[in-house]
Amino acid sequence: MKCICCNKEKITGYNGVMINKKYICEDCEKQIKTIKIDDPKYNFYINGLKKIWCCGEE
Ligand SMILES: [Zn+2]
Repeated sequence: MKCICCNKEKITGYNGVMINKKYICEDCEKQIKTIKIDDPKYNFYINGLKKIWCCGEE
């Protein structure tokens, strides 16, 4: 299972979240929960989430 945020291949069943059949790994999930809007990485993670919300139905 590939994380849609960091594109790292993770073992299925590993900690993380599935949203609309897209996978976010534990690392990215933590980042998303704690990241601040002024963090340079904010857009990176938000874009990852947009892939889920906008393209969830394929
Ligand atoms: Zn990730």
